[in-house]
Amino acid sequence: MSVHMHDHERSAAVSNRVKSLVARLEREGITTEAELDSLVDSFLLSARPENGYAIVARAWTDPSFKAQLLDDANAAMASMGIDLSQWASVTLRVVENTPENHNVIVCTLCSCYPIALLGPSPSWYKSLEYRARVVREPRKVLEEFGLTLPPQTLITVWDSTAEARYMVLPMRPAGTEDYAEDELAALVTRNGLIGTAPV
Ligand code: FE
Repeated sequence: MSVHMHDHERSAAVSNRVKSLVARLEREGITTEAELDSLVDSFLLSARPENGYAIVARAWTDPSFKAQLLDDANAAMASMGIDLSQWASVTLRVVENTPENHNVIVCTLCSCYPIALLGPSPSWYKSLEYRARVVREPRKVLEEFGLTLPPQTLITVWDSTAEARYMVLPMRPAGTEDYAEDELAALVTRNGLIGTAPV
């Protein structure tokens, strides 16, 4: 409970700071609250997990796209028409799950998250408990999500920062060789892109 109150007080403080900053920008004639609202709305409208699902389905079906995605995810996003301009200084890195290596993402400091690709983050992602425990005991945390990995699979935990965001590329499920790209996209879940679900 005290943790919740602390987060709540902190967000109230941030909200007050934002309000006074916006008021100052309006006074200076730099922008208006309405203009900022419409910018945020258009960003949030395009920030949907379907972006992530489509990227994964493309990577599963197009080896050259997958190679580019793993090598330079920002460039791969641009080639799919996903606008990362609000992210000018953020490097996106896509990490691939294999039978030998499983990846999971976290922001241990706060709640950095690839919103443009996954939509708003779930509240558990922002919780102190997840942020602390997934680093210390990832296998146990994943089991609590219902994801039991073979003991020989290594788990890598990627810690997001203001400059670097991560997305997991899950393994393509067996028996989907005949699936079209949109059918594959429909198999992907948000938690699969965080690494707390198999797909
Ligand atoms: Fe953060």
